[in-house]
Amino acid sequence: MSGSVVDGVQRLPSTGISILIVGAGVGGLMVAIEAWRQGHDVQVLERNDGVSPIGDSFGILPPALATLRFFPSLHKDYESTSSDALMYFYSHDGQKVLEAGEAPWNEPGAVHAARDVRVTWFVRRYKLLAAMEAQARRLGISLHYGKNVVEYGEDETQGFATTSAGDRYSADLIVAADGVGTKSHKHITGVAPLPSSSGFAVYRGVIPIERLQDISQASKDKIFCDSRPEFRIYLGPDMHMNLLTNPDSIIYILTHEDSGSAEEAWRSTVSGKSVLETLDTVPGWDPAVKEVIAQTPEDSVIDWKLLWRNPQPQWCSEGGRVLQLGDSAHTFLPTSGVGASQAMEDALSLATCLRLGGKEHLVQSVKAHVLLRFERVSILQRFGFANRQVLHKLDPFRLLDQPELMEMRHSRWIWAHDPIQYAKENYPMAVKAVTEGSAFENTNVPVGFRYTPWTIEEELDRERKGLKSQLRETGDWS
Ligand SMILES: Cc1cc2nc3c(=O)[nH]c(=O)nc-3n(C[C@H](O)[C@H](O)[C@H](O)COP(=O)(O)OP(=O)(O)OC[C@H]3O[C@@H](n4cnc5c(N)ncnc54)[C@H](O)[C@@H]3O)c2cc1C
Repeated sequence: MSGSVVDGVQRLPSTGISILIVGAGVGGLMVAIEAWRQGHDVQVLERNDGVSPIGDSFGILPPALATLRFFPSLHKDYESTSSDALMYFYSHDGQKVLEAGEAPWNEPGAVHAARDVRVTWFVRRYKLLAAMEAQARRLGISLHYGKNVVEYGEDETQGFATTSAGDRYSADLIVAADGVGTKSHKHITGVAPLPSSSGFAVYRGVIPIERLQDISQASKDKIFCDSRPEFRIYLGPDMHMNLLTNPDSIIYILTHEDSGSAEEAWRSTVSGKSVLETLDTVPGWDPAVKEVIAQTPEDSVIDWKLLWRNPQPQWCSEGGRVLQLGDSAHTFLPTSGVGASQAMEDALSLATCLRLGGKEHLVQSVKAHVLLRFERVSILQRFGFANRQVLHKLDPFRLLDQPELMEMRHSRWIWAHDPIQYAKENYPMAVKAVTEGSAFENTNVPVGFRYTPWTIEEELDRERKGLKSQLRETGDWS
């Protein structure tokens, strides 16, 4: 299908590079379709039997959608997955303290990489994945379900992935996009990064709108919106809740102290009753919020344990034939709001670097891609950490006359980036850096920011001393 047009997508001439992607999450599927568009041959192995309906929503920022204009059908489908909400901050007792409004990239005059796309704060995960999977199928990409990859390996010319059934697959490059539980660490670094408990967990619940018909009129008036959906953040002491009002559902995401029962797994384990009990540990929660949560379908709430892992820069094997992408390479706290976007940005950067280098220079392209991505991602991981401090420690009523105290905003450097363009412009220098050891400075970070490695232990130490994260002290965060 070299140079062909399929489903309205113009495929670039073949590079002859074969890629085996493990994991059909948002990162894996984005690699699949973008790598196909850029002329690589791809196939996908996924452990589940199909796209999982589990989960609720995530934020996808413009850089992650920089390629959407090349996929006309997917672009159309994307619009039905997204919720074009306005953002507000509330105190936990239900008083509106700040109207943040439109996403900054939708403000008049803002220019971003997802040209012609109305990029919203949030999308429904399942709907977006289903749309991306359908796009992959229409392009003729092979998707193999029920394939649990348990081992990775490589020789000089090929990477390998072996399933629990003993089937061995090979390709020029294996992309381990298999999420936080990836089995690729053993091959890449020898050890999985040690997670440490944050002491917090996140309840994630979805309530279909039909279940809210019988709540009191007073609660309906407070929660339902006449015009645009709302993305609300309720701030309480050591607890905060995101609440999204969609036309068909209410989604809530409550960060709370972990009682020890949460797991780092996308499994529904608890009921709305447990969420209410947790809310009641802090007096004064808005009764309307509580009445809504009481309507949560039985045992449908995920209690996701928030584990922290220090950034680790080695995303690919020494031989360069096995590469981690998305959560397998870098996990995020939900307060960063950018985890899914970074998985997709990785995908766009990788497909571009591979195309620029061609089959002959695949290994150096993989390493150049990691150099282009790591620092940006690491800063954003720390950003999630700093945001968490703001959300849990700020007295919401101070926002009434000092809105600038809400530092948890997406700065321009985060949303105005174009990972495809960036890879094109910086690939030659990045290759020189990885092959000759020459100096290279990333510019996909805040202007004026000098990257220094950081650890969670250092951040926690500052927090214990009552000090703020130093992250925003240098560079342009406007
Ligand atoms: C079922 C599910 C629901 C989620 N819901 C939300 C949500 O509501 N909100 C949110 O912010 N984040 C959610 N996430 C996490 C979010 O998708 C990621 O944090 C982020 O988007 C990065 O995506 P990723 O593709 O790197 O990883 P993931 O989205 O985790 O995708 C990894 C994929 O790899 C597959 N996989 C794992 N192990 C193997 C294996 N051994 N062999 C083959 N395949 C394997 C998984 O089944 C999954 O499809 C969810 C993840 C999952 C798996």
